[in-house]
Amino acid sequence: MTATAPIRVIDRPTLSDNALRGRVILVTGANRGIGRAVAQYCAAAGAQVVLSGRTVKGLEKVDDEIRAAGGEPASLLPLDLLKATVDDYRAAADAVREAFGRIDGLAHIAGLLGEMSRIEDYPPMTWHNVMHVNVSAPFLLTQAMLPLMSGSPGSSIVFTSSGVGRAGRAHWGAYAVSKFATEGLMQTLADECDGQPRVNALNPGATRTVMRRSAYPAEDPTVLATPADIAPAFAYLLSTDSADIHGQTLDAQPPRKK
Ligand code: NDP
Repeated sequence: MTATAPIRVIDRPTLSDNALRGRVILVTGANRGIGRAVAQYCAAAGAQVVLSGRTVKGLEKVDDEIRAAGGEPASLLPLDLLKATVDDYRAAADAVREAFGRIDGLAHIAGLLGEMSRIEDYPPMTWHNVMHVNVSAPFLLTQAMLPLMSGSPGSSIVFTSSGVGRAGRAHWGAYAVSKFATEGLMQTLADECDGQPRVNALNPGATRTVMRRSAYPAEDPTVLATPADIAPAFAYLLSTDSADIHGQTLDAQPPRKK
């Protein structure tokens, strides 16, 4: 039997002053939930954020919030991850290249829960959509953005994992399988990249968002961490402070008490 190393927890780290200053950070799922909080945190720490989400309207609202808090105006990158084509990702990379010439951090935070259902009953179209948004879209976006990261010292990619992406659980269907695939994508890319960029996966743990509410409708949300509690862990991995972390799967919260 082989021993499994304990998963490292990055619980609300304090970042050094210049860890994110001037870095160009692209965040998907930036219009709400954890993605929005990560974008806001990075902007407040002096990063130039590129907000990606389905609609311009949703992103403009977050940009307004960032400006109101004193951050640099964000760049908006509308992309529907279910519908975007290879050409759309190429165009997105061209837009970022023209604006900044590089990307220092790429945070894949958008995600789709799909249905809570037994595999036997799982709707095939929902399966396809969840696998596409959670796995294929991050692959395509990464592939398009990698040339913009190779010239940036300390560049970092963060994939968003989940506890059900490490141990399967009944009724979590395509979502659980997609998070296993996310871990596989992270490991494969990390082995190819040799630290330039660094590549890691972070499990936020139970967090008070729309997705969590859909999965656990009867739960008291006030007992959960908020997206703002989780944001520093993502920001840390995107920053120069985590220069020694590569190819790892990490947790943003200690394991929950049963
Ligand atoms: P939310 O449901 O609040 O946010 C999901 C985000 O994904 C939204 O911004 C949503 O945009 C975006 N998204 C979904 N489909 C698409 C699409 N087709 N194109 C573009 N964007 C899309 O969830 P969370 O903030 O909780 O989740 C963030 C990440 O954290 C996910 O990867 C999730 O799997 C992971 N996670 C969350 C946990 C939790 O307890 N909350 C626990 C473990 C992991 P829109 O508003 O347009 O739908």
